[in-house]
Amino acid sequence: MIHCLVCNNTVEPFISFGRMPIANGFLGSEQFAQEYFFELRVGHCLVCHMVQLLDQPDREKMFHANYAFFSSTSTRMAEHFARFAAQVKRDYLGSADPFVVEIGSNDGIMLRNFAQAGIRHLGIEPSANVAQVAIGRGIQTISEFFDQELARKIVSKYGQADVFLGANVMCHIPYLHSVIAGINILLKPEGVLIFEDPYLGDILEKTSYDQIYDEHAFYFSLSSLEYVFKQHGLEVVDVIPQNVHGGSMRYVIAKRGKYPIADAVIALREKENQLGLHKPETYVNLRQNIERSRAELMTLLRQMKQSGKRVVGYAATSKSTTVINYCGITPDLVEFISDTTPIKQGKYSPGAHIPVCSYDKFSARYPDYALLFGWNHAEEIMAKERAFQAAGGKWIVYVPRVQVIE
Ligand SMILES: [Zn+2]
Repeated sequence: MIHCLVCNNTVEPFISFGRMPIANGFLGSEQFAQEYFFELRVGHCLVCHMVQLLDQPDREKMFHANYAFFSSTSTRMAEHFARFAAQVKRDYLGSADPFVVEIGSNDGIMLRNFAQAGIRHLGIEPSANVAQVAIGRGIQTISEFFDQELARKIVSKYGQADVFLGANVMCHIPYLHSVIAGINILLKPEGVLIFEDPYLGDILEKTSYDQIYDEHAFYFSLSSLEYVFKQHGLEVVDVIPQNVHGGSMRYVIAKRGKYPIADAVIALREKENQLGLHKPETYVNLRQNIERSRAELMTLLRQMKQSGKRVVGYAATSKSTTVINYCGITPDLVEFISDTTPIKQGKYSPGAHIPVCSYDKFSARYPDYALLFGWNHAEEIMAKERAFQAAGGKWIVYVPRVQVIE
């Protein structure tokens, strides 16, 4: 029996993706022999309805000193965080000399919007090399893991915070209760926690199972979060859907009774009821949809190989690791993955060891098909790659369903 990380009741496993490497573990050939694997399994708690990983890989293996993900490399994400910060400034920073804290602040992509406005801020970023980049840009950052003890230290040094932010980080934290207890210490009585993460409703509706990988311990819904926060005297006061990372939700959390509950919260509760997020059969359906997606994608890739077509992967994303390893995509099916991130080029994809090559290699000799691992940026990418399609190239996407786009 597996115990829920949130409520300690029974978690019902509904899928295993099998033996899986670390999603962002792009590696050199000399590291193949020491590559770390774990079983990627997901379950649904029958009581609090939190969807969660059943085996937590060692976090030191994920967020190590050479962590390769720098948020600011994406212009689109930089724009997203500028809008996010603008909303926070407009709605929640009314006090004199406000103080903003962000957990998992990365290279400062969000906090720089506060730093530039002269607002007191503090980033908490456990990856030391990423934190150094933020500090170099004039963003106040400490490189530690957040818990109650750190919250007390921050309060004694800077005072309580008006806003505590998190973008794509809360769902990474298996010890959620300890973080929320810390947030409770850190926030002023009228303070708010605002965070966004991939939304379970989108995963169910789009069969976007590539959201499921080692870094994401939880797959949040409004109903599961309401259960969690209630235990800490907090409540969800607003929800704002976000069109990033293939479907995310921004949640605004406050101490109970401090803010009115927005109509959007009531509407989302109703929608989640209709989606059946509380029913075990919903997750059986999800598993069947994932299995069907895998079968269709592999049939397509094998047909292409038989007919002598060249297929190349586009964007060496963390998300691609689950798809590649679960489906069994090998270098004989996908020749290489094109990616513009210098740190990934010359390395190999985790698990399947598909070479990651520079974008020049893709554009110098277009393949017949490009398998779009960055499907969540499909519109932006396809607009940029008109020449590829003009030369007869076709896209393969697998979310919301497997299809070829000419
Ligand atoms: Zn539970």
